[in-house]
Amino acid sequence: MATLYFHIPFCKRICSYCDFYKVGALDLLPRVVESMHRELDERSSYLSERQLTSIYFGGGTPSLVAPHDIEQLINHAQELFDCSKVEEITIEANPDDITEEYVAALKSTSVNRVSLGIQSFDDRVLQFMNRRHTGAEAEEAVKHLRMIGINNISIDLIFGIAGFGTSHLDESLQRAINLDVEHISAYHLTIEERTRLGMLMRKGEYTPISDEESEREFLRVHNALCSAGYDHYEVSNFAKPELRARHNSAYWQGVEYLGIGAGAHSFSRDNRTWCTSTAKEYAEGKFLYDGEELTATDHLNEYIMTSLRTSRGIDLEYIAKMFGTEHIASIERQAEPWIASATLLRHENRLYIPATHFLVSDAIIESFFV
Ligand code: SF4
Repeated sequence: MATLYFHIPFCKRICSYCDFYKVGALDLLPRVVESMHRELDERSSYLSERQLTSIYFGGGTPSLVAPHDIEQLINHAQELFDCSKVEEITIEANPDDITEEYVAALKSTSVNRVSLGIQSFDDRVLQFMNRRHTGAEAEEAVKHLRMIGINNISIDLIFGIAGFGTSHLDESLQRAINLDVEHISAYHLTIEERTRLGMLMRKGEYTPISDEESEREFLRVHNALCSAGYDHYEVSNFAKPELRARHNSAYWQGVEYLGIGAGAHSFSRDNRTWCTSTAKEYAEGKFLYDGEELTATDHLNEYIMTSLRTSRGIDLEYIAKMFGTEHIASIERQAEPWIASATLLRHENRLYIPATHFLVSDAIIESFFV
């Protein structure tokens, strides 16, 4: 099993918190899409597994790509891989791109899941984040997608934003719940240095919320969404029953993936690589890569990190089988203080962090690294 990721590093407007690699030179987009076909041909043998389980278009802003071009990339993947078991094809979209015209074109593609970068339904917060849409447009986008029968919609929300009081978060959560979307990703705002927010913070014009407020907001998100029937199955992810994100879940289970596009990452049993080409170089067909070889220890640490971020946790029997029984005693020793403080639970061979403690998962995870 493997998954395929297409990265579209273009944005019409730069959000104040974002430090992902992206460019605004939309004139490059058609040539970048052409190059993606070439890179797909050249890199398809990176995957040792030929069977795909999901395809994902992320960014940047994939909804800037015409649905017809998205479908051609999917068709190309079908020529190179066994896609008979692909059950989920996701495209990330900005709400204001999801017009009636866009969804009419999207209807004729194989895309069956849309992830909307809504972030908030409060227009003041959206403006502060320099987003392109309003709360009302976000709701319209969900309605447009429902009209063409998309019955697997995920939305992104951001919490932990200082300066707007607390009611905007409750309101956004309620409006998300009212839309009855299948999946919600809720991220705590992080202030990265090379962003507008980072600059405001350096100038003393933005003060992040305290750790205590962060925890309170995290629990508000958890409580509101779990009460509405969502399962908090990963630090930042909530799903209706049976509707967890398959593509992201595959990442967290250590499944191989091939990333296509400028800035895309790939992961196999042997190594991790990433494309370092700029969008301009990529458009010219110059595919440059960096990477690192992965040892068994790297894979074990990766397994610990990704698994403990999910409600599944780590499986000691699996670790013994895949990485050797010698790791078990030290993991059990490290687990003792966390279990004593109930920030880690044990059920048979499984060690897992209860969702209410996901916010402190980093400290727990680090203590297990080999
Ligand atoms: S749309 Fe997404 S990738 Fe583009 S600037 Fe905003 S957060 Fe970053």
